[in-house]
Amino acid sequence: MQADLVVVGSGLFGLTIAERAATELGLNVVVLDRRGHIGGNAYTEKEKATGIEVHVYGAHLFHTSNERVWAYVNQFTSFTNYVHRVFTRHNGEVFPMPINLGTINQFLHAALSPQEARDWVREQAGELAGTDPENLNDKGIQLIGRPLYEAFIKYYTGKQWQTDPKDLSASIIRRLPVRYTYDSRYFNDTHEGLPTEGYTAWFERMVDNPKIEVRLDTDFFAEGELGRARVLGQVPVVYTGPIDRYFDYAEGELKWRTLDFEKEVLPIEDFQGCAVMNYPDLDVDFTRIHEFRHFHPERDYTKDATVIMREYSRFAGRSDEPYYPVNTDEDRATLLRYRDRVKEEKTILFGGRLGSYKYYDMHMAIGSALTMFENKIKPHFVSGEAFVSGGVDA
Ligand code: FAD
Ligand code: UDP
Repeated sequence: MQADLVVVGSGLFGLTIAERAATELGLNVVVLDRRGHIGGNAYTEKEKATGIEVHVYGAHLFHTSNERVWAYVNQFTSFTNYVHRVFTRHNGEVFPMPINLGTINQFLHAALSPQEARDWVREQAGELAGTDPENLNDKGIQLIGRPLYEAFIKYYTGKQWQTDPKDLSASIIRRLPVRYTYDSRYFNDTHEGLPTEGYTAWFERMVDNPKIEVRLDTDFFAEGELGRARVLGQVPVVYTGPIDRYFDYAEGELKWRTLDFEKEVLPIEDFQGCAVMNYPDLDVDFTRIHEFRHFHPERDYTKDATVIMREYSRFAGRSDEPYYPVNTDEDRATLLRYRDRVKEEKTILFGGRLGSYKYYDMHMAIGSALTMFENKIKPHFVSGEAFVSGGVDA
């Protein structure tokens, strides 16, 4: 196929760009991925022995309050009415997470009212009460007070990031709601659910168009027909791999966290009674255990077996999959140097979690791809505007 546009990476950012460009503009799009499947980190597959849908790169829960994104994704899949609730196992007891009135009262063996709980947290937050700190440590203490921070956040964050929480952004902890009611939903968004027929069916529908060609096991940095040396400057490119890798780490390495997963099929119906159990204490090395059957209570899964997956976190080396941007001050300075380099590129746009070094959730990756399509790709192909005018989808 003669390509009008090459998309590097078939995660949700790349799939959205490819789908829009082919469907709305009728362009011939080639999507390449170095992995053997589409969907990026949101990819799932059925575990062979049990048929249970396993989230291969860690559990993915779809949630959004963005109506444009919600309308867009509903073209390709319907969603179940699954509502995510997480539990956390601290000192031999199981508490609801994120922190809510139930967590606080169980922690204190008390029956505080919402106002009494607020007053107690404010007292425990000490000098940080009423402030709006920018680092995770102080923000965590300000939000929930020291005792809850030390029980549920401090060591989990230590395992997840291995970085001084004073060097981590407060935005990481702001992902979690704190509620003075017994509402224990993990997310606050208007829409939430799991794709009824699974993530892979959703992604396949996005590329089910003769104008889209998907090439798997194809690395943009390898030699070959679709390698950088042959493509760049010939065809416009949207690149969703790591930004530092694209520039051969010339401005230094951005820090990423990667995960190791330990999957087990157990000959029992139910291991932990919920989809995700967090482990915030130091006596276990992993951060959480996923049990996939609980994501789809509506499915008729076998009662003879269940699939669990323990999640361990560590710094990513160059050959590991980068998952989470650590985003310290040093990383942000490095990123700015890469953004200057991006400005010199004329035929390639950078986007997605890896290409923009942002802790995007799925709906954010899709939303930012829709914006890139409207603001950059469409004007280029429809009105002949320059493909690149600023580079990273910031
Ligand atoms: P990715 O999904 O990372 O896709 C990038 C693709 O580019 C990959 O397939 C990669 O193989 C390919 N690629 C990279 N370099 C090259 C190259 N040189 N040549 C060819 N291909 C290349 N979001 C939620 O909304 N809810 C969740 O519950 C949730 N849980 C998550 C849990 C974990 C453990 C992780 C890591 C992420 C989670 N996310 C979640 C975020 C979600 O995975 C991302 O928002 C989404 O995957 C971003 O899509 P993307 O296309 O930007 O990146
Ligand atoms: N976190 C924590 N304890 C928990 C859950 C989360 O300390 O039980 C902190 C931790 O720093 C984590 C962040 O909150 O990285 C965001 O959690 P989330 O569950 O949103 O992370 P993700 O699902 O993206 O790994």
